[in-house]
Amino acid sequence: MVNGEYISSFNLPFTTYHLALMKGNLIIISSPSGGGKGTLIKEVLRAVPDVAYSISFTTRQMRDGEINGKDYFFINRTEFKQLIEKSEFLEYAEVHGNFYGTSIKQIKRETELGRDIILEIDVQGAASVRTKVPEAVSIFILPPSYEVLQNRLVNRATEKKADLNLRLQNSIAEVRHNEEFEYIVINDDAARAANDLQSIISAERLKRIRQIEVIRAILNSFDNI
Ligand code: 5GP
Repeated sequence: MVNGEYISSFNLPFTTYHLALMKGNLIIISSPSGGGKGTLIKEVLRAVPDVAYSISFTTRQMRDGEINGKDYFFINRTEFKQLIEKSEFLEYAEVHGNFYGTSIKQIKRETELGRDIILEIDVQGAASVRTKVPEAVSIFILPPSYEVLQNRLVNRATEKKADLNLRLQNSIAEVRHNEEFEYIVINDDAARAANDLQSIISAERLKRIRQIEVIRAILNSFDNI
C-alpha cells in the first residue's frame, strides 16, 4: 500500500504509520477437496490489497503445474518431522494420507506488517488454530451439492482414482464440520462466492477492535487541540 492512498475502512490517507498500527487478521478457509476454494482464494488475492497467502509445508507429491515455494513447500517426511521438533508449525495435520503444516514464521511476518493472511487448511487444522488464536476468522466453503463436488474433482483430474475416491469419501465427514465455522460461503457461482469472501474480509477489517490503535491515534489528535 502506497502512502497517501485512501482506504475505505477509515476513510483517511493510508500511511505507513497507520499500517504499522494495524495488525493483520488470520483468515482460515476450509472446504472439502474440490470445493473450489483455490479459485476463490486466487481471486481474493488479486482483488483485495494487503492480503497474503500462507504457503504450507506438505509431504504430498507435487502435481503437474504446481510450483515449490508458491503452492506449497514440498518436503519429505523426515524434514516434516524436523520442523515439528523445531516447533515451526502453528498447526499440522495428516490429511488424505499426507502431512500438511502451517508456518508460524510466515504468519508472524505478514500480520506484523498489517497484512491479513489466508490459511487454506483442513477442518482439523482449523480447529487447532481456533484454539490457539481465538480471534482468527473462520470461513467454510460449501459446494452446492455432493454431485457438483464429485464433478469438479473428476474434471480437475489431478488425483489418481484411489486418491480421488478417498477425497470424496472424506468430504462426507468434512462438510459436517461447517458448524464450527463463523462464516459459510456457498460456492454455486464463483464470482458471487469470491465477492462474499471479499465482503467478509472487508467487514472483519472494519471491526472496532481491529482498528483500536488507529482510533486511539485519531482521538489523540483531538486531545491536542
Ligand atoms: P491438497 O492436497 O488438495 O492441496 O490439500 C488437501 C487438504 O489439505 C485441503 O483440505 C487443504 O486445505 C489442506 N491443507 C493444506 N495445507 C494445510 C496445512 O498447512 N494444514 C492443514 N491442517 N491442512 C492443510
